[in-house]
Amino acid sequence: MQNFTSTRDAKAFSNFSDAILNPSAPNNGLWAPISLQKIDFSQFPNTDYKTLTKKIFEHLKLNIQENILDEALQRYDFFDDPNNPAPLTKINHSLFIQELYHGSSRAFKDMALAPFGLLFSKIAQMHNKKYLILTATSGDTGPATLDTFANLNNIQVVCLYPKGGTSQIQELQMTTQESNNLHIFGIKGNFDDAQSILKSLIHNAKFKEELNKKNIYLSAANSVNFGRIAFQIIYHIWGYLQYIKAQNLSFGTKIKLIIPSGNFGNALGAFYAKQMGLPIEKIVIASNPNNILTEFIQTGKYDLRDKKLLLTYSPAMDILKSSNVERVLFSLFGAQRTSELMHHLQEKNFYVLTNSELLVLQEYFEATFCSDLQCLSIIKDFYQKNHLIDPHTANAIYAYQQLQSTHNIVCSTAQWCKFAPTIYQALLDKKTSDKDAIDFILKDTNTTLPTNITNLFNKPINHQEVLGITEVQDKILQLFQ
Ligand SMILES: *Cc1c(COP(=O)(O)O)cnc(C)c1O
Repeated sequence: MQNFTSTRDAKAFSNFSDAILNPSAPNNGLWAPISLQKIDFSQFPNTDYKTLTKKIFEHLKLNIQENILDEALQRYDFFDDPNNPAPLTKINHSLFIQELYHGSSRAFKDMALAPFGLLFSKIAQMHNKKYLILTATSGDTGPATLDTFANLNNIQVVCLYPKGGTSQIQELQMTTQESNNLHIFGIKGNFDDAQSILKSLIHNAKFKEELNKKNIYLSAANSVNFGRIAFQIIYHIWGYLQYIKAQNLSFGTKIKLIIPSGNFGNALGAFYAKQMGLPIEKIVIASNPNNILTEFIQTGKYDLRDKKLLLTYSPAMDILKSSNVERVLFSLFGAQRTSELMHHLQEKNFYVLTNSELLVLQEYFEATFCSDLQCLSIIKDFYQKNHLIDPHTANAIYAYQQLQSTHNIVCSTAQWCKFAPTIYQALLDKKTSDKDAIDFILKDTNTTLPTNITNLFNKPINHQEVLGITEVQDKILQLFQ
């Protein structure tokens, strides 16, 4: 079923599994569903998580063999509660937090990557092809990608992270990996440098040719891969259904979904759910001081001119070019207009929606941003009320406090342990190491962490190498001699 098209070329088509293997679409676009049919979500009040996923995939005509999808969904059996991978916690009468961090790497990336990795490997095996997954990470994508692809057939992974630019926990989650299909390198540079190397390699014909000679094909598992987005539609539906049940509301009651956003993959899943008819009042895009999305949603202007990337307490949201916005433009305004806007961004570093386009965008989205100081103060306030939240989630809580609407779900995108020194800073106004911050908080709150996290500090480091930017290409080719 050729039900995907390029966001920049309405004459280019793909099916779901090809879009997973080859995530870049013609004309530099992204693969997106041609259209989304409405579905009656009220038929699923007691449907379990895996069945819900299968029903929605079926409805979207995503062409995955049932036994393969079943096997991919078994990855949720390793979450804290296999029957409820994305549980909600009540904070007060108008706010629930949906915890999306109960997978192995303790960030929301696992919600999609855990089943996605297995799916990718199975499709690669069916096509009898070997893939090299190249990934660059600011800290959360790397561990989730490595965890999912460890020991899978037909897959090699090269993961680049900025040496010193991630939290210590995140670095250990990568450097202590044991599977020999995983290759992890620190980069002398920041996240943007790591990402630029990756982009230049993906567009380097000679590099690809060298790999193809060895029968290896390049692919990517970042959130431009629609295979990830597909799984990110599901937990928003799940969250809605859990919320109305817990609050004893009738189906159809509208809820705001508040989402700490960076590359807009999480929010895109919610956007597609709303297009399919989920009663979402608004999707609230929460940002940190890198507030380009706030400006875009409030004014219709996406403007990179005189913007500089700021380093904040919520690094996964430190981003200026938010890739998945393109898929929203495509859904609302079509391929031709999307192509026009994206070209304008490329050439002039900004684009502006018309007034009527802006109104359409605002039917779906609302936005606000939170300063670093406000972020720390919310973390502290919640801590004192016995809720441990990470800095990304705190940005979304800030948005909730600004909006004051009746029914709200805040997506919590990481467990506190990934950013423990920031929690410590919020509480005590001083710096410490990840290990000391974690020990302090565990003792102080009487909480526990999964052993795969607490054991990280005792595991051998298997990946030490740090590369200069110019060394990466040769290093990768050497791996596959
Ligand atoms: C990746 C990430 C985000 C941003 O998600 P997008 O889908 O890129 O918008 C937010 N918070 C955390 C903790 C993340 O790891």
